[in-house]
Amino acid sequence: MNLNIACIPGDGIGPEITAEAKKVLETVCEKYGHTLTIEDVLMGGCSIDRYGVPLTQETIDVCRSKSAVLMGSIGGDAKTSPWYQLEPSKRPEAGLLGIRKALGLYANLRPAYLFHELAASCPLAAGENGDRSFDLIIVRELTGGLYFGERWTKTIDGVETAVDTLRYNENEIRRVARTAFEIAKKRRHRVTSVDKANVLDTSRLWRKVVHEVAADYPDVSLDDMLVDNCAMQLVRTPEQFDVVLTENMFGDILSDEASMITGSIGMLPSASLNESSFGLYEPSHGSAPDIAGLGIANPIATVLSGAMMLRYSFGLAKEADAVEAAVRQTLSDGYRTADLMPKDAGPAEGLVRVACSEMGSKISERVQ
Ligand code: NAD
Repeated sequence: MNLNIACIPGDGIGPEITAEAKKVLETVCEKYGHTLTIEDVLMGGCSIDRYGVPLTQETIDVCRSKSAVLMGSIGGDAKTSPWYQLEPSKRPEAGLLGIRKALGLYANLRPAYLFHELAASCPLAAGENGDRSFDLIIVRELTGGLYFGERWTKTIDGVETAVDTLRYNENEIRRVARTAFEIAKKRRHRVTSVDKANVLDTSRLWRKVVHEVAADYPDVSLDDMLVDNCAMQLVRTPEQFDVVLTENMFGDILSDEASMITGSIGMLPSASLNESSFGLYEPSHGSAPDIAGLGIANPIATVLSGAMMLRYSFGLAKEADAVEAAVRQTLSDGYRTADLMPKDAGPAEGLVRVACSEMGSKISERVQ
């Protein structure tokens, strides 16, 4: 197969971590006889420095002409970077919202699973007996709801007042619900739809449409859960979840919560999909400006984003499995980037600290 993709390395640690993901993708493609072509494009702060805007039409056009996009992360330190002197619509993050919209990426997939090799660094997720295990995926609606509604701030009768509008139509709900049910069919056949239907009209419409979609998937079970309860249950018993389907803002908050219960922000990938197999794949974390350029970033979330790309955009499940297995093997062989190293641990515990590029190479060797 010919895999023709764009890469947005971005800012901060972005170029370091995407270099390792490319290395692993090249290895897996070579091993399984695929051709990989990657074209790099600018977005975020580096695009502001070069072109004065965070996202150019050229970047959008290049991304559109490919089958998928691999991304590092964008943005800088809001306190010190000159990018944040600009008005909000010209800052690096505007590039992210712009590309999601331009590419019609309405479904955001955020898996959260516990790596047994790292359970010690996450006592909450490890459970009382250290035997907890979970593997869930959050499907978040990405282009509707509160973040895209009409908003304004004005003074009314001498009182400063702000309004954000939360709006969904049935089509926006239906298409992301279908994505969640399709994913559940390939997993453990369970969808939990999260809303606030005891208060919000949009949630009541959400619930109605999700149940209509569920009728087309008799082999997938559906439960509804209120968002406040879900926030609790994720911490209490994350193993009860398979696919969690939710709207934009609830998904934003719950997916960050879910990623933290796994113990490390450097481990979790994400995908944003449109109605075809096109997707943008990126780590769940940001550009980590505090460690940029030091060569110590953890590239695993980006490597695993590459595995999601193989699975969802190219249908290459065997190749994706090979990358995921290589990551687990590298961890069980004791290799750790700095963020994964428990305090005072070292060779006596069978752990070896490696740099970002070494971690990529160790994973590549195991893919091979
Ligand atoms: P962050 O995720 O970049 O960093 C939080 C902490 O986690 C930092 O201490 C960082 O060093 C550490 N960390 C993150 N990724 C790591 C990795 N791979 N390996 C080792 N350590 C890692 O979050 P932040 O500091 O809130 O944001 C920094 C910048 O990233 C901001 O400009 C923000 O807007 C941007 N951001 C971008 C995206 C994106 O591109 N999708 C997402 C979130 C944040």
